[in-house]
Amino acid sequence: SNRGFCTNTINKIDFTNIEISRLPTVIILGRPNVGKSALFNRLIRRREALVYNTPDDHVTRDIREGVAKLGHLRFRVLDSAGLEAEATSGSILHRTASFTANVLSNSHSLLFLTDGRAGLHPLDQEVGKWLRRNAPQIKPILVMNKSESLFDVDHSLASAANEMSRLGFGDPIPISAETGLGMHDLFLSLKPVIEDYMLRVLNDESAAQENSCGDGTSSPEVDESKLPLQLAIVGRPNVGKSTLVNTLLQEERVLVGPEAGLTRDAIRTQFEFQGRTIYLVDTAGWLQRTKLEKGASSLSIMQSRKSLLRAHIIALVLDADEIVNAKRSMKHAEVVIARRAVEEGRGLVVIVNKMDLLRGKNKSSSYEQIMEAVQQEIQTIIPQVTGIPVVFISALEGRGRTTVLHQVIDTYEKWCTRLSTARLNRWLHKVMSRHSWKDQAAQPKIKYFTQVKARPPTFVAFVSGKTKLSDTDIRFLTKSLKDDFDLGGIPIRIMQRAIA
Ligand code: GDP
Ligand code: GDP
Repeated sequence: SNRGFCTNTINKIDFTNIEISRLPTVIILGRPNVGKSALFNRLIRRREALVYNTPDDHVTRDIREGVAKLGHLRFRVLDSAGLEAEATSGSILHRTASFTANVLSNSHSLLFLTDGRAGLHPLDQEVGKWLRRNAPQIKPILVMNKSESLFDVDHSLASAANEMSRLGFGDPIPISAETGLGMHDLFLSLKPVIEDYMLRVLNDESAAQENSCGDGTSSPEVDESKLPLQLAIVGRPNVGKSTLVNTLLQEERVLVGPEAGLTRDAIRTQFEFQGRTIYLVDTAGWLQRTKLEKGASSLSIMQSRKSLLRAHIIALVLDADEIVNAKRSMKHAEVVIARRAVEEGRGLVVIVNKMDLLRGKNKSSSYEQIMEAVQQEIQTIIPQVTGIPVVFISALEGRGRTTVLHQVIDTYEKWCTRLSTARLNRWLHKVMSRHSWKDQAAQPKIKYFTQVKARPPTFVAFVSGKTKLSDTDIRFLTKSLKDDFDLGGIPIRIMQRAIA
């Protein structure tokens, strides 16, 4: 029975297998120029950041989000630097107050950044006051940046720290975002907050699993694959998302814009296909914003952050004509979102639109070229998932509806797959005997293999205490699961636990 797993409590956090959306969020706040962006960049190192545009007071401000790594901790970090780009006076947080408050209410920890070289500044006081009023639920961690030179001079660090502590948030942690000094102290103060949060989340989940394990099988009472499918259609402006939505909805046109006098709710975002209900997630939102942002150079694709978290399947739309004319088939924003979708455990379907434009042009082989280029690029940017579906359509001509929906549904059903423990262990026996390890001693002893979660399929291998699955072993098991249970094209997770 799988009760063994269900009663297993979590006592050590391995952040490497946790989906980004489940990680806690840490926001960096402070007056302009204290080094918020510098600290953000250090925390995310060279990983990619997402940029969200927030229309606020008719000024677009942006906020960056990245995944931070600090020691073994992982968390989402927000850089609020863009928020005050417009601020020249003491009104820093005023004009963005509602937006910032909203972001704060979704944050789990806050780094209140100050500048140790400049010393305590009246704007720091203002930020402090603002925080006390607007985010009483969060205890800020006071951080004093640009402290590298203070360490060299006798007493100057102590007196700068003393001055900063007048803000009323305790003693500051001196760091230097530029040199990396003090990052270990920052780690030590974030560790309890991040770990407590993560423990709560993971324990809630394992309790939920325990409840659902009662029947002794791993299949849930409802067939999840028959539940309504949430589909998000994402892509840069002008690739044809609106046109595709019209094609998907067929006769019912999507009406957009204020002139149509429609509220967001009036925009139809649900349709039936072959007896199945499909919801288009956040369509209303991006349709409106797309119109606002046409021509903007920003990553306006990122209105889809929420969609990404709410959707089961992400349909990423690319423009065939652009691909033919460019060297790379995917632009940075598209690469970011494709990776993010998979990291978040979503099913991804890539749609290459505007194929009709290739017809007239004297490019006899461009269709094949484009197919190969796109498929290859996807494989390169997301090596961990093989066989992500790519479909070629012309939304304008209304072609490709069935192909798109078949791929979406196929991906969704794979994503919902649940395999019984008995079946998995029979399978395990076969694959382990089929595979030969060069070094016999290196062969991991998997005692037991079970699926703990679907959407996406997530497995746990219980490994005999003396051995451990290497990355190669995990890749081998993942590939075998894919091949043997037809799970290609979707993210699959395998975790391991040591047992005696
Ligand atoms: P933000 O407006 O708070 O995002 O500040 P920035 O990150 O843009 O940094 C403002 C200025 O401070 C830049 O010129 C940075 O190079 C500089 N800076 C940031 N961190 C440090 C640091 O640790 N030491 C020193 N000396 N300068 C820093
Ligand atoms: P969105 O910004 O992604 O929603 O893109 P739209 O749906 O508004 O389309 C942008 C432009 O591309 C419009 O002029 C569409 O008519 C055109 N378009 C969309 N799909 C196709 C297609 O399959 N072929 C061609 N030739 N043009 C298309």
